[in-house]
Amino acid sequence: MQEGGWSREVTVRELAVSKSMAGVDMRLTAGGIRELHWHTAAEWAIMLYGNARITAIDADGKSFVTDITEGDLWYFPTGIPHSIQGLNPDGAEFLLVFDDGNFSEYETVLLTDWMAHTPHDVLSANFGASQQAMEKMPKREKFIFQAAVPGPLAADQKAAAGSRGASSQDFAFRTIQHAVTKRTKGGEVRIIDSSNFKVSTTIAAAVVTVHPRGIRELHWHPNADEWQYFISGTGRMTVFATGGRARTADFQAGDVGYIQKTLPHYIQNTGDTDLKFLEVFKSGFYQDLALSEWLSHTPPQLVMAHLGIDKATLDAMPKDEVVVMPE
Ligand code: MN
Ligand code: MN
Repeated sequence: MQEGGWSREVTVRELAVSKSMAGVDMRLTAGGIRELHWHTAAEWAIMLYGNARITAIDADGKSFVTDITEGDLWYFPTGIPHSIQGLNPDGAEFLLVFDDGNFSEYETVLLTDWMAHTPHDVLSANFGASQQAMEKMPKREKFIFQAAVPGPLAADQKAAAGSRGASSQDFAFRTIQHAVTKRTKGGEVRIIDSSNFKVSTTIAAAVVTVHPRGIRELHWHPNADEWQYFISGTGRMTVFATGGRARTADFQAGDVGYIQKTLPHYIQNTGDTDLKFLEVFKSGFYQDLALSEWLSHTPPQLVMAHLGIDKATLDAMPKDEVVVMPE
């Protein structure tokens, strides 16, 4: 908790199973800055509330500055420096997901920390500036701090681009400009991975809404562990972990869940409002298989011999992946 905002994190230290991803929930006031920094992990983010301005430079040193609103995403690859600043009227809350469970938001390369630990004569030689001018440098890291709300976006973009021009890479995904991937009576899903969000080469995600009485169908992911964040509503998840072992737990807004690669699971909406949650994967592409599509694309006699169900029951199963039932 600092002037300008707060953050809280869930890493492998708090949630031992979450080896491949870690998450940070962060709130910034209008004008509040998550300072210029970078880190060893790649950063994927979704805006949960409000508005923010994000900045970066790409690997060619070209600038990227844009404004992000609720539902939008961003992605910064490893080692790419960036910042986040809350905008009017009430700043922003966002969720950061890192492609390393061991990652901590408190172990990043911060501009102020770096400068505070570099001798002023070195900085003066590096910048071609007087040592006296370096005396105003911060004595310790800032991490999050309060500043004035920035002016118009276009002016910031122009100033940052200079004569070099802006980056051709888009580090942001504007959700409103993309169609929902699948909508059923039970809910909807948006799948965002490197096929529609090009820069996001190490993180894929599904934003899932389950209406009351709906169920995120029985399924599994062949390619990656699943890191979950519950945005709103209440749900109950069961994970089947082989050998006759299973675990069921209730989740509510702000909770984090984790499912190891290939383990089957389902999520029920236990409330009377929409359940909204994120499925995040350390992978450039989203992949899942549903129980229904497996059984309906296997020879019927083989399936019926296993399950003791009749042909009519088998025929009534969805042939394609539904994601959220009912269809
Ligand atoms: Mn970051
Ligand atoms: Mn899943």
